[in-house]
Amino acid sequence: MTIKRNILLNPGPATTTDTVKLAQVVPDICPREKEFAGLMAGLRQELVRVVHGDAEKYTAVLLCGSGTLCMDVCLNSLLPEGKQALIINNGAYSARAAEICRYYGLPHVELKFPLDRPPDLAAVERSLAENRGIALVYATHNETGTGLLNPISAIGALAHRYGAVFVADTTSTYAMRPISLEAEEIDFCMASAQKGLMGMTGLSFVIGRRDLIEASRNYPRRSYYCNLWRQYDCFERTGEMEFTPPVQTVYAAVQAMKEYWAEGEEAKWERHTRVMEAIHRGLEALGFQELIRREDQAGLVAAVRCPDDPGWSFEAVHDYCYARGFTIYPGKAGTAGTFRLCALGAIDTPDIEAFFQVFRAALAQCGVSVPVRYKD
Ligand SMILES: *Cc1c(COP(=O)(O)O)cnc(C)c1O
Repeated sequence: MTIKRNILLNPGPATTTDTVKLAQVVPDICPREKEFAGLMAGLRQELVRVVHGDAEKYTAVLLCGSGTLCMDVCLNSLLPEGKQALIINNGAYSARAAEICRYYGLPHVELKFPLDRPPDLAAVERSLAENRGIALVYATHNETGTGLLNPISAIGALAHRYGAVFVADTTSTYAMRPISLEAEEIDFCMASAQKGLMGMTGLSFVIGRRDLIEASRNYPRRSYYCNLWRQYDCFERTGEMEFTPPVQTVYAAVQAMKEYWAEGEEAKWERHTRVMEAIHRGLEALGFQELIRREDQAGLVAAVRCPDDPGWSFEAVHDYCYARGFTIYPGKAGTAGTFRLCALGAIDTPDIEAFFQVFRAALAQCGVSVPVRYKD
């Protein structure tokens, strides 16, 4: 079987290998079989291993849903009665975390910072010192809307100094940028299978401290389907998800994990880095400007300023590229004048070079002059 290879430069799902795609084609199986539980048990261990977690101290809880589910589950499950969460909001994804708090009516402090630079850590510390009821600090590792890298280990250290649990949204860095839970002061992190792991959509996971999950058993149960302790407890007792797992997606994730180790943590990060460098080079050659200073980027997402050219149309450029097997992605609310090119997935430098040929042709088709121009 040959499957058309598309190059996805959107922030996930990512381009996958054919072996991962085909791993989903398996004989029908009831997920309550021991064979399937064994598959998930192995995957849970490997997920902890990716972030260098001690298997005794840390565990992985699988969830059936997209990455936002992990955010929801961590926030609604890990906050004790009468305590507050501190959300460090400097982008679209951390804004979503604050919105989740509002939906559940969770007491929280939302610290808003500019989107285009790391947060002011002194302000984070002041907030922790002034609000002694903060039991959970939440920050996003790579703000996928802009590609900004947040200093998570410094934030984790502050959280711990004030006795709070630290939850880092690593959805767009996990299995790409090397992460070490303990060294980086992370109590909980998260991701979904279709991003760094280069698996399929529908399977997500929270990785974190077993003792804290066990303690959360006595916290308010704010959701029936999306409670972290409940899913953890079911896995520990039976090896199964409480409700139907995404069966074929789990098979793909197991294959993706094999391929992760075969490529290797360091080599994989090097590959994403050279893909990103090729993206920067291609953009520079066309005169495009990026939103975030290079030294503040997580190295996986380029948020690119749309040029001030009457011919520019994201839609038209997108459609031209899409018809030729390349996907580019629009900006988020708050960064509406940008579009994004991401370095996720099973792609390498030649794919980016091929993309820029098509992209250049798309600009010509739209009548956008090159190098592109900006008013300011
Ligand atoms: C992708 C992503 C999520 C989850 O988004 P879904 O669309 O629900 O998969 C959460 N946080 C970050 C930082 C992300 O990049």
